[in-house]
Amino acid sequence: MTKLRIGIQKSGRLHEDSMKLLKECGIDVSNGVNKLKTEASNFPLEVFFLRDDDIPQYVEDAVADIGIVGENVVYEKNKRITVVEKLGFGKCRLSVAVRKGDDYDGPAFLEGKRIATTYPVLVDRFLKEHGVSADIHEISGSVEIAPGIGLAEAICDLVSSGSTLFMNGLKEVHPILQSQAVLVRNNGLDQDRMDILHKLLFRIQAVKKARNNKYILLNAPNEQLEEIIRLLPGMKSPTVLPLAEAGWSSVHSVLSENEFWDIIEKLKAAGAQGILVVPIEKMIV
Ligand code: ATP
Ligand code: ZN
Repeated sequence: MTKLRIGIQKSGRLHEDSMKLLKECGIDVSNGVNKLKTEASNFPLEVFFLRDDDIPQYVEDAVADIGIVGENVVYEKNKRITVVEKLGFGKCRLSVAVRKGDDYDGPAFLEGKRIATTYPVLVDRFLKEHGVSADIHEISGSVEIAPGIGLAEAICDLVSSGSTLFMNGLKEVHPILQSQAVLVRNNGLDQDRMDILHKLLFRIQAVKKARNNKYILLNAPNEQLEEIIRLLPGMKSPTVLPLAEAGWSSVHSVLSENEFWDIIEKLKAAGAQGILVVPIEKMIV
């Protein structure tokens, strides 16, 4: 029987969230730290544990059929593979940083300077876009120490909070790429593998939707029902059930994370009481 082979990071920032996603998709994979590969017991999936930098190449070469990797790596490696789905974790940005005391007034600041980075391709593209010529120093790690040891005047590195930069006397001045983990696939998958991929994608999308939505239950006085229902977007229209107490109803609906607090406040103001918010495990629309 055909199995789909997925490459995920062996250890590091994407490992746990990648394993968690598979688990939430109902796929049982024994944790393979120190193992090269393992098989799911209840889904036609074989999992390869790899260095994240190698995943685009393995997927291009069809050693793995699909993979989970950061967009930063996908666009730096520039392999012939297809991004299938954004996964919503591993969020960070690739940014230019300079010394705290420097007056950065735009990309022209970098003219003739040395920039240390592990992302030479993306930095080169950024510089060309802005008509700046600078000297790119490719180094493989600890980029943030380069200015301190006199190797470069600027760096370009991944940032999430900025605290690493701050500790090294640097400041972030220019984000050049927003990144998150994505699912990528080989460009020449056969029909059997495509079918498995679509099954997996269906589950991933249900998990993602569930993560972004909450189930909400509230009590409303009947005279306020109309206004409260108007505030609720819901998948279709909300469910309304009579309460044992006359003149009151229970209203059930689904709210997305980004409009959540805003709507809750309005619901309260409109007379809603006993508001309960419950996580959703899977959401299929
Ligand atoms: P490997 O040993 O697999 O090569 P690595 O050291 O290159 O690991 P990690 O530091 O584990 O990689 O980061 C993996 C990915 O996590 C990055 O490529 C990026 O997409 C994402 N990421 C999210 N936030 C950050 C961050 N603050 N710093 C670095 N990477 C981040
Ligand atoms: Zn890496």
